[in-house]
Amino acid sequence: MGLIVQKFGGTSVANAERIKAAARRIVETYKAGNKVIVVVSARGQTTDELIDLAYEITENPSTREMDMLMSTGEQISIALVAMAIHALGYPAVSFTGGQVGIVTDSYHTKARIRNINTQRIRKELESGTIVIVAGFQGIDANENITTLGRGGSDTTAVALAAIMKADRCDIFTDVDGIYTADPKKVPHAKKLARISYDEILELASLGAQVMHSRSIEFAKKYDVPLYVRSSFNDKEGTLICKEAEEMEDIVVSGVAVSKDDAKITIRAIPDVPGQAARIFHEIAKKNINVDMIIQNASIEGRADVTFTVPRSDLKEALNIAEKIKKDLLAGEVLHDSKIAKLSVVGIGMRSHCGVAEKMFSVLADEKINIQMISTSEIKISCVIDEAHADRALRAVHTAFGLDKAEKEEVIKV
Ligand code: ASP
Ligand code: MG
Repeated sequence: MGLIVQKFGGTSVANAERIKAAARRIVETYKAGNKVIVVVSARGQTTDELIDLAYEITENPSTREMDMLMSTGEQISIALVAMAIHALGYPAVSFTGGQVGIVTDSYHTKARIRNINTQRIRKELESGTIVIVAGFQGIDANENITTLGRGGSDTTAVALAAIMKADRCDIFTDVDGIYTADPKKVPHAKKLARISYDEILELASLGAQVMHSRSIEFAKKYDVPLYVRSSFNDKEGTLICKEAEEMEDIVVSGVAVSKDDAKITIRAIPDVPGQAARIFHEIAKKNINVDMIIQNASIEGRADVTFTVPRSDLKEALNIAEKIKKDLLAGEVLHDSKIAKLSVVGIGMRSHCGVAEKMFSVLADEKINIQMISTSEIKISCVIDEAHADRALRAVHTAFGLDKAEKEEVIKV
């Protein structure tokens, strides 16, 4: 007996059959004696279709009207889920974000939740009704409809679980859980029984897109355990939770590769105070996110600086680099967008040594050159040639003992 939040993603409510299956799961949880709050995303590709439609009308739709438009996707889903529960003979009521008092700031299409007025939800739950809430949306102080950014239904679910002090937040999705690597790239990847908030935040930002990053930040802040599992089967999923001491026994929990960055080098910059500040001030002014930075030892009073930026910002960053080159009388500006960032993540790194050494020797054995290195307390990243990315990913995955055991290794005699 308890309070459980269940979130169903777009693929889990894509058509009538799946909506009925979701309703059966919800009712099962309810029949077990729990109070249930359900958060639903728009069906299948609905949000993408709505966005395409807007751009058929105009190249420059107002963000307020985009929110008015996009929020309709979730409104369809909640009504259908409520109907499916009624059809099974159980009480349910659907609400938009505004109706359940999800108040956000006014940054249309990327609003943040400010507070939630839980009165209405509490009243319905008390009377024994299953509450269905539209994910991804809220209203601002002037009652304009807002949305929380793509994938934002996760954040709605976690925020509701946090404020209602739910016992659990189930995230039903189209994958069985969280794996040690993307199973499409690493066929031997293993499903993790659990993973800490910090690890999943690193992996999500590395391109292992499982959940909306903001929702994990929220879950961490309010200590909401999240259980990610498939809506298509009953297999055990992955628990995302606060770290426990024994979780540090596992040195590396996951490996990931991202191909979203490009590298820029400005050569022969006069090696005097203030130059790095100057370069990165110009880049920050354009809102470009710099990830890794290295500066080599200076030779004859000049040093090279290399840094990475999102590929989508490469052109703009190069313009800035060229301008800086002229201003500082530096050497040439080089760039490479065919790079990949390979990372290993694990809270066990804090208490084990030799992790970086192992990663570097695997790459050496594979004859893959390391172009840049960066580390944090729980992550080591190497920039390598994009062409070797997937091979490197598999080699590192194997070296850290993450491959799943072959079950069917039958030795024939
Ligand atoms: N429907 C929204 C989207 O596709 C929100 C979500 O799915 O979480 O981005
Ligand atoms: Mg979605």
